[in-house]
Amino acid sequence: MRVVALTFHDFSANGHEGPGDAVYTITAAEMESLLAHVHKLGYRTVSSKAFRAWQQGNGSLPERTVVFTFDDGYTSHLEIAASLLNRYRFTGTFFVTLNHIGQPGFLTWEQLRKLIFLGMEIGSHGVTHRPLTSLSRQEMEEELVQSKRVLEQQLGTPVHSIAAPGGFWNGAVAEAARRTGYDAVWVSNIGTNGKETNPFALRRVVVRKPFSLERVVAMVEGWQPAFWWAANQQLLIRVLKRTLGVYWYERLKRRLVPNA
Ligand SMILES: [Zn+2]
Repeated sequence: MRVVALTFHDFSANGHEGPGDAVYTITAAEMESLLAHVHKLGYRTVSSKAFRAWQQGNGSLPERTVVFTFDDGYTSHLEIAASLLNRYRFTGTFFVTLNHIGQPGFLTWEQLRKLIFLGMEIGSHGVTHRPLTSLSRQEMEEELVQSKRVLEQQLGTPVHSIAAPGGFWNGAVAEAARRTGYDAVWVSNIGTNGKETNPFALRRVVVRKPFSLERVVAMVEGWQPAFWWAANQQLLIRVLKRTLGVYWYERLKRRLVPNA
């Protein structure tokens, strides 16, 4: 049994853009087409918590399972994503950055409580969204502990999982997450997850522009060439960023990816 987890960021509707990076923003219509298609193929969704329970031998997963995760805590996660998920009786895990809560374009505490009411899981995405790998051991622990504690206090529900900000991960992050009481770290390494997958480095595939329904569905279906394409796209981005520098990379990106 292999499970694919998808990562979403911001959503736009009717030409209205949120605060998220345009390259990672897809439209409500694109999201709806994806959910409808995945539903038609017979997929069911599970939260991070349910996936981890299965990994630990507690409970089973539907024969065709996909995990939907949402990073950064945008308002569109409630206004667009959650209502679409509900339409198909899907669930999702929403990773929020503590310091962004209540900022313009980002979810408020009230909206986070609504997400929980709608059956969604809330996870941590750090306090400040700084890459955990760039921090000292003490700073890293503060990000992990404080985000978990405040989310739990404000929402009245345990926080089990964290998505590494920017996908930056290493062994020290895994160890600190374990030590501070998390039982899942979701990263941005491309691939599928099985029982044996390290729960402190769970793989996810980022859904980004240009959106292709066929390509995303191919990944949900575990079609290897689709992963290869996604992995190399990511590799290419990393190499370009490093060799061009961020300024020239951004300029190139704007030319290569329309509407970005
Ligand atoms: Zn993020």
